Amino acid sequence: MHVCVLGAGIVGLSTAYELNQRGFKVTVIDRADQVGSGASGHNGAQLSYSYVQPLADPSIWSQLPELLFSPQSPLKWRPRLDYQQWLWLLSFLRACNRTDSARSTAHLIALARLSRASLDAMQEREKIDCDFSNTGKLVLYSSTKTFSAAKKQMRLQASMGCEQQALESFKCIQIEPALAQYQNQIVGGIYTASECAIDTLKLCTSLENILRARGVQFVLGHDVLRFTLSGGRVREVVTKSDSMEADFFILACGSASARLARSVSVQLPIYPIKGYSITFDLSQSDIAQFAAPQVNITDSSKKIVFARLGQRLRVAGMAEIVGYDASIDRHAVAKLIATTHDLFPGLKACPVSQAWAGLRPATPTGVPVIGKRADAPENLLFNTGHGGLGLTLAFGSAVQVASMVH
Ligand SMILES: Cc1cc2nc3c(=O)[nH]c(=O)nc-3n(C[C@H](O)[C@H](O)[C@H](O)COP(=O)(O)OP(=O)(O)OC[C@H]3O[C@@H](n4cnc5c(N)ncnc54)[C@H](O)[C@@H]3O)c2cc1C
Repeated sequence: MHVCVLGAGIVGLSTAYELNQRGFKVTVIDRADQVGSGASGHNGAQLSYSYVQPLADPSIWSQLPELLFSPQSPLKWRPRLDYQQWLWLLSFLRACNRTDSARSTAHLIALARLSRASLDAMQEREKIDCDFSNTGKLVLYSSTKTFSAAKKQMRLQASMGCEQQALESFKCIQIEPALAQYQNQIVGGIYTASECAIDTLKLCTSLENILRARGVQFVLGHDVLRFTLSGGRVREVVTKSDSMEADFFILACGSASARLARSVSVQLPIYPIKGYSITFDLSQSDIAQFAAPQVNITDSSKKIVFARLGQRLRVAGMAEIVGYDASIDRHAVAKLIATTHDLFPGLKACPVSQAWAGLRPATPTGVPVIGKRADAPENLLFNTGHGGLGLTLAFGSAVQVASMVH
């Protein structure tokens, strides 16, 4: 049986890997010339298995004025004459209640657990070199109010099997001494010893190499324009210069999935949330190596994450609801640099080797769209809408969608 995977981001590639493991003939199509060119390549690099709480949370209501109007806000919303944007925002606000948030959290924790098991099993087989680390994750809180809410969420997640600790600020510094000069800015942190980080681009490239060696066909540089239907099924996908027939098609085009799905009258609840990353090159200075954290850090008030990738430090954040524009805003980059210097002043002389912007394919509830849909052709499956957790969840959703191909 031939399966065609649309999209060569981390979600499409992990899907192709899982299908190949199960013995299917697989073709991967992507409009970019290189794998990992969408939201995956230079993301925050965090395997956040225990930090899956969706953005749609009841606390949003009290934070909304500050999120929308404070110049320091990590959120930017540019209202557009775009029905999809307004529909998405309304669905998002509807999901900001305790019941939906707890349901999504439970769903995502279960998916994250499957994903960890599946990624670990893949690593055990393939031994991919991609700056993997398992130094844990520390989420910092700057007010007693937000720290109390985080402890409440920790207790909820404990009932779902997550092992986390609430720490006073001095204990946070014991766990990550590079934060020493930031201690007076934090009231405490939640530490999860089992969290990991990995370079997503290296992972994507390694998966491509492994899959090519095993006979998977890659059709890169081909923009999928539409599907041809026949008898309630997709017969082929049409690109600018070619077409491809298959028995099954899996749509894994990240934030572009919604547009493609609309071409077969399927409405996916996905809208892009833009974010940025910068990467510090630590290799030139011994001081920088000690000034940068080893543990993954999230500054919850600034909504910025830090991950150590060998001789590099990846810093990522921001949430902009501005449509499909993926250009790099220098103010956002400057903010990431300034925040890094606040937390880790020893990095002031360290060069930034890369600035990047990507579009998170977000659903209102935070739960991705995986598998078949009643309104879609029966051989068109979906694996998309992973929002800010695509790296974390990719290998789990790959198992789920691959198990539906038969
Ligand atoms: C700033 C930032 C930080 C993040 N940090 C983290 C993190 O720390 N941990 C985590 O788990 N997640 C993180 N994420 C989220 C994660 O990166 C995404 O959820 C994930 O990359 C989505 O993967 P994907 O394969 O679905 O989409 P993408 O990586 O966007 O891949 C989709 C692919 O589809 C292709 N495509 C699109 N349209 C077409 C078409 N018409 N024809 C052919 N090909 C097409 C694109 O070229 C692209 O290669 C972050 C995201 C951002 C933006």
